[in-house]
Amino acid sequence: MALYTNDSKERVRDAVDMVDLVSSRVELKRAGANRLTGLCPFHDERSPSFGINPAEKVYHCFGCQASGDAFTFVMETEGVDFKGALEHLADRYKVTLELEDEDPQAAERRKRRERLLEAGVAEDRLTRIAAPIGLDLGGLTAEETALSIMAEVVAVRNGREGGRLSTATGRIHEVGA
Ligand SMILES: [Zn+2]
Repeated sequence: MALYTNDSKERVRDAVDMVDLVSSRVELKRAGANRLTGLCPFHDERSPSFGINPAEKVYHCFGCQASGDAFTFVMETEGVDFKGALEHLADRYKVTLELEDEDPQAAERRKRRERLLEAGVAEDRLTRIAAPIGLDLGGLTAEETALSIMAEVVAVRNGREGGRLSTATGRIHEVGA
């Protein structure tokens, strides 16, 4: 799964206007230089024990102990996960999110896995294919199993039976003679 860069998260955090954000849910009143209070959105109350610090961009409720930052506020009030909260805030405060560049090796593994799945290669089927040729499949994923089998085929074709082969996953497999 692609992830957003840490830089994106920090830019969103910087762009958040905590008063604006919390005001969408809570009627806030100024209660000090760096404090606004209102009725807590997380528990039922008649006098405000909920407050925010707009400079620190955090909230806290003395009644129910709910506390957090802009991300947790959106997660709790909108019922979304962290990624959802990040996207919600980026949209609200006009921040462009950038995706983490996928590690090329991980990208290659993902593509290979997708191709195997597209080809309908099931793990139990690979195990059945591998067993007669003596491959140890303990703890191997379907992908690694397939790579082992491919390496074996290449070795046999090259007349190097019984050698040690390094698969594309970097693991060394003893190939049965
Ligand atoms: Zn509360």
